[in-house]
Amino acid sequence: MISNKPTTTNTQDRISTNFGQDVFTLETMRQYLPEEVFLKLGHCIKTRSNIDREYADIIAEAMCRWATNKGATHYSHWFHPLTGQTAEKHDSFLEFDKDKKAISKLSGKLLIQQEPDASSFPSGGIRNTFEARGYTAWDISSPAFILENTLCIPTIFISYTGEALDYKTPLLKSQLALNKVATKVCSYFDKSVSSVTSYLGWEQEFFLVDESMYQKRPDLLMTGRTLMGHESAKSQQLEDHYLGTIPTRVAEFFKDLEKQCHALAIPVKTQHNEVAPNQFEIAPLYEEANLSIDHNLLLMSVMKKVAEKHSLRVLLHEKPFKGLNGSGKHCNWSLGTDTGVNLFSPGKTKQDNFQFIVFLVNLLNAVYKFNSLLKASITSDSNFFRLGGNEAPPSIISIFLGTKLSSILDDIEQEDLDHILQKISLSHQKETQSLLDHVPDILIDNTDRNRTSPFAFTGNRFEFRAVGSSANCASSMIILHSILADQLIDFDTKIQENLSSGKDIHEAIFIALKQYIKESKPIRFDGNGYSEEWLIEAKKRGLNCDTNPATIFDSYLEDKAVSMFNRTEVFTQKELLARNEVKWEYYIKKIQIESNVLSDLATNHIIPVAIRYQNLLLDNVCKLKNIYSEDEVKFQNLSLYSKRCIEDISKHIGNIKDLLIHMKTNRKQAATYESTRQKALGYATTVVPDLDKIRTHIDELEMMVDNNIWPLPKYRELLML
Ligand code: ADP
Ligand code: MG
Repeated sequence: MISNKPTTTNTQDRISTNFGQDVFTLETMRQYLPEEVFLKLGHCIKTRSNIDREYADIIAEAMCRWATNKGATHYSHWFHPLTGQTAEKHDSFLEFDKDKKAISKLSGKLLIQQEPDASSFPSGGIRNTFEARGYTAWDISSPAFILENTLCIPTIFISYTGEALDYKTPLLKSQLALNKVATKVCSYFDKSVSSVTSYLGWEQEFFLVDESMYQKRPDLLMTGRTLMGHESAKSQQLEDHYLGTIPTRVAEFFKDLEKQCHALAIPVKTQHNEVAPNQFEIAPLYEEANLSIDHNLLLMSVMKKVAEKHSLRVLLHEKPFKGLNGSGKHCNWSLGTDTGVNLFSPGKTKQDNFQFIVFLVNLLNAVYKFNSLLKASITSDSNFFRLGGNEAPPSIISIFLGTKLSSILDDIEQEDLDHILQKISLSHQKETQSLLDHVPDILIDNTDRNRTSPFAFTGNRFEFRAVGSSANCASSMIILHSILADQLIDFDTKIQENLSSGKDIHEAIFIALKQYIKESKPIRFDGNGYSEEWLIEAKKRGLNCDTNPATIFDSYLEDKAVSMFNRTEVFTQKELLARNEVKWEYYIKKIQIESNVLSDLATNHIIPVAIRYQNLLLDNVCKLKNIYSEDEVKFQNLSLYSKRCIEDISKHIGNIKDLLIHMKTNRKQAATYESTRQKALGYATTVVPDLDKIRTHIDELEMMVDNNIWPLPKYRELLML
């Protein structure tokens, strides 16, 4: 007889007991804090208000007690400086009590705010030496966690004069701006909405390589990508890696990683092989954006440590291997009200659908107006080696909506107002087939998901696919929140104007929508984003088609961007200028390093080996000459291959040497330019192209030189797990 007793598997038990074990979760707080303090903290988290000092002391004491119970010995403010990484400064809990006895202690003051000796973090000139102080301040909305015996407290990082020196500060500000105006707009539909939250679910792609192979590749070690390497005979042509069986070694790595993530309350759920060999993906369940971003940053550092234990290396670079798919970090994004409505999801009622259309159209217009800025938010030296390839979104921002949704917008745009109002008949909720009745079908009809679009509507969210695998997603989320907030402010003003000129609310809204749908049309593109035609078409539409990272950053400083950030109170002009300085500086430094590493490898590794091999060939020719000295014709025939090879090697060596000199001259020239921007521009236009030209010659040599003496592991060795 089959028993129908519910069976609980061990795995489930393990997951639930392990989940959040290393996090000072609400549940743990409840255990460790007096009721009154717990409620107060809960209130502050909800309203994003500051916590009083007296409460902070009690919370700090509880946090310290919890952490030391779990074996922690140190604490650290954990923040996201503009390096794109996370930063920690570890301090021991050690204090002496009044009897000079050593104890573990964390005060409320140190929990709330610290002044890390942070003068070497990039500030873009904001912190002059006399005011070189940077402050970290506790972000109570993201829970503290324990990482390797250290209690990590998520914080923002600002300068002495209050400017943001990190990603978290503007992210929180952008959420605030969006929440405020989105809630107001929601109130046209439902008065009970009191807040709107941004949700993010990222999909992290990455490569894994064997540690010993990695150690033998100075380019990977120092730049995160291979600066040379001929494609392997078999790479991804057969598309047999995608969703294939995860190699045993990698499965072990994933098992370990998942366990650690779950202990840190990172809700990772999906892992699979990606398209390229050695390429994988891990994705969590979506969460509130600030927390989700913290979790992604935490994952990126945890996965590196876990990989080391398995003698593997994680490559988060967007394009570690030429000729293979690059890695991205798709950002799945939606907005939800505190009443449980997803604003990017078609609903069950006309009212919900109407609201959905309002947010959709406003987003279209925001992305259209600020498509350059959104592109700037995903721009980095490394992501630009990936974008525009035949496997990644182009470096042009457009939005995919799918045929159903597009046709609804076309209807709204084209039909006259009376007709639409009659059709939607919102106030009566008539059960007739109407314009907005069609919307839910989209969920079912969501099969034509266009993989070539950088920003796609996927039924109940948007998927921003242009984000790079190594990026801090906050960079993009800040822009999405800010531009939508700014657009909604515009929308709200229009509604108010229309209302005061005597229109009813539905009329008022539709007048605005019709205008936005018309204006934002150029951003809608459902076709093949990889095609040549799209490039031509996008230019005609006036979308930003710039492919130079140095000039793409200019979008942050355009007047319309400055005033948008001013209106939403996300960045001041001073902050924007400083942050762009950092971006340009970073760009220059990254290319400088690549250029130096490539010069070194070419000069000290590749050319000597090529010459060694050439000498072997020369030796071979001389010996043939000796043996066949009597028979010139035979000698010529037999030595033909070697001689051709000798000449080709010389040609490649000559070209490499010329290009190295050329690259060095260009570097020196760029260094003489006055502004950081000009220098970055110089590097982008004159140094980067040489990197690629040099590698082409090296890759040719790789195919000629004896495999036994080639100094670096080849792609086929690197990509075999
Ligand atoms: P794929 O794009 O590969 O089909 P999934 O459907 O598994 O991926 O989802 C990818 C990510 O999108 C996950 O992190 C998931 O939690 C997230 N996601 C799903 N629904 C939403 C939503 N409404 N808002 C934000 N993220 C979401
Ligand atoms: Mg996806």
